[in-house]
Amino acid sequence: MLDTYTLANLKGVGDKQLEKLHKLGLFSVQDLLFHLPLRYQDKTRLTPLSDIFIGQEAQVEGEIFSQQLTRGRKNSLLVKLHSADGGLLTLRFFHFHFRQAQQFVRGKTLRVFGEVRSGPNGYEMVHPAYQFIDPQDPPPLEQTLTPTYPTTEGFGQASLLKLIKQALVLLKQYPLDELLPKEQALAHQLPGLNRALFILHAPQPDDDLHLIKQFKHPAQQRLILEELISHQIGLQQLRQLEKSRLAPSLPPSRLANSLIASLPFALTHAQQRVLQEIRSDLSRHHPMQRLVQGDVGSGKTVVAALAAIQAAEAGYQVAVMAPTEILAEQHKQAFEEWLQPLGIETAWLNGKMKAAEKRYMLAKIESGEAKVVMGTHALFQEAVNFNQLGLVIIDEQHRFGVHQRLSLQQKGQKIVLEGEAPPTDSPDRDVLPQFKALEETEAQLAQGANEHRKSESNTEMRQNRLSEMHPHQLIMTATPIPRTLAMTAYGDLDLSIIDELPPGRKAIETAVLNNSKRFEVMEHLYAKCQQGVQAYWVCPLIEESELLHAQAAEVTANQFTERWPDLRVGLIHGRLKGEQKALVMDAFKKHELDLLVATTVIEVGVNVPNASLMIIENAERLGLAQLHQLRGRVGRGDKQSHCVLLYQPPLSETGKARLNIMRETTDGFRIAEEDLKIRGPGEILGTRQTGGLQFRIADLRRDAEWIAAAQQAAENIVAHHSALAEALQNRWIGHKIEYQHA
Ligand code: ADP
Ligand code: MG
Repeated sequence: MLDTYTLANLKGVGDKQLEKLHKLGLFSVQDLLFHLPLRYQDKTRLTPLSDIFIGQEAQVEGEIFSQQLTRGRKNSLLVKLHSADGGLLTLRFFHFHFRQAQQFVRGKTLRVFGEVRSGPNGYEMVHPAYQFIDPQDPPPLEQTLTPTYPTTEGFGQASLLKLIKQALVLLKQYPLDELLPKEQALAHQLPGLNRALFILHAPQPDDDLHLIKQFKHPAQQRLILEELISHQIGLQQLRQLEKSRLAPSLPPSRLANSLIASLPFALTHAQQRVLQEIRSDLSRHHPMQRLVQGDVGSGKTVVAALAAIQAAEAGYQVAVMAPTEILAEQHKQAFEEWLQPLGIETAWLNGKMKAAEKRYMLAKIESGEAKVVMGTHALFQEAVNFNQLGLVIIDEQHRFGVHQRLSLQQKGQKIVLEGEAPPTDSPDRDVLPQFKALEETEAQLAQGANEHRKSESNTEMRQNRLSEMHPHQLIMTATPIPRTLAMTAYGDLDLSIIDELPPGRKAIETAVLNNSKRFEVMEHLYAKCQQGVQAYWVCPLIEESELLHAQAAEVTANQFTERWPDLRVGLIHGRLKGEQKALVMDAFKKHELDLLVATTVIEVGVNVPNASLMIIENAERLGLAQLHQLRGRVGRGDKQSHCVLLYQPPLSETGKARLNIMRETTDGFRIAEEDLKIRGPGEILGTRQTGGLQFRIADLRRDAEWIAAAQQAAENIVAHHSALAEALQNRWIGHKIEYQHA
């Protein structure tokens, strides 16, 4: 058996190496076999130096004709090559030893491998792999592709390759079990598991190297499919677990109907449909786990409020969480306006509240008097003791990765779970600081809930009932997520889509302008504001510094006031205190300000229907989803709205294409699909670092076509082959993703 061998049995693995391997998530020989190449380098061919192009990964040969040291912000060593056929290439090194620099002697010939880039003097390669060769007697080329693995510092490709070679020898002796059941015809048209592993780690010259490079080889497809299936199994099990828990059944609400009757507008069909889905979930005895997707401005807030009313009327409490203070403040205003006339008590928490006020709020929450509690996610960073929490609403959750979402969901559960210990650490958990904060919060919450329970336990009946109840969960996201991605990232949730905007909204007209027009745009904005229009001017992050960021916005605000003293200008950025932000937002809402100059803090959810003009500077630096979010701040009233995207030339081809998409459409789903194509799933979901969606081989962008099949296969395996489901989980997910234990 393969697992009688441990990593420590392999040649070249001591304690130090073992630690590094663990860091890579490798704990067994099998893990090593499933540590798959990220990509392949093709050193089987030479490209003539005169044929190279930008973006190409190429192996070339050339003769050194000069080398020089340049001094600047960063010293660099430039080595220039040329070839007999007139090709030219500069090699650039930022890190080098003096000794190394001396080796690059004019007249010597180099064979180099790297990516061709455009540099100040034509084609360039930065830190290529290189070797000196004798042009009369060049060494042979590689026979096959060279795999490149994910590595960690101090444990490079070469060391990893040596271990994998040993693992392959063991694999030949002790093949792994096929875990996909026979009826997975699709999988069985593809090569078997063991053969697939050999091909991936050690492609042979007669394998189709072109397909392998593209990750389209049947052997790769075999593993991609198995990995996607395993991932789907995890999500389905998580979902089943949720479904097996108990939640309070909340009957249909009379108060919700009276709010609907008193609203100044009629709900759209889409809102009604989604509300119906939520209501029927809430009436069940198992926790709702529902994600509501609705484009910006589609009216998610009122749907959430109606759900909250259903819980409150049944005597349960509701926690409403927003990612930013501005948004939380806005929720507070909207919810209070709707709930107070119905006699539903609300409470409100924020990070900067005075101690006395906070104590008052906490007491109201603990006694159960406050039914609907609003605040930022920081609301849960304190030990908030709910009396009887029945529903958790998480707004704009697209800013969070899968892990954070699950953590928030668990938090909701922990509140009512008794004596549950905080989750133990897993390797990829300490990556994000905010995640850490959440974890600590979780621990506090669990503790708080316990103490609360102890002090309260008078009727044992009630205690027992409470301890097994889990709140319902409603998660709302404004960025439409492409279907394939939703199936994978949110496969454990039920999905509702508000795919209709309230009537009378006019599509926002978008223009894309060179920054050289900036002053004209300012003049135009001033003229519009004279006519009663309210406008946003957004200065996105230019440097990774909140300070500079704030300064950029400040400079712009000053430019306006200096030039047009009668223009009422407000400024909002991340360095303002919560109450300062609230003051500015409030003034803008009341039309005491004409122009709001803002950083991207304005992005999510801000609702000022009268604002109908938005300028976004440096639009080329922002992702499509973010631009869509920002632009969604206008077009919320009945006025025709306009958006101007200013860009700083030169604009790359993709840059142009992206801004054009923004000009062509306001359809969030289309924008999301394009965004997925351009940026890849990790960035869209913000999970790049959390490990939640880190696949070993699958790539949701490249392999989207397999997801539906994987989902079906997973259903079948979960239903009929539970032992295989378990084994697949262990094989592919192992210690890497902890949410299956949620
Ligand atoms: P989002 O989905 O982006 O959170 P909001 O809930 O903030 O959108 O709604 C945007 C605006 O549309 C709010 O002013 C809200 O009161 C209003 N609204 C919501 N539903 C409707 C509707 N059916 N008809 C007209 N206006 C609506
Ligand atoms: Mg909203």
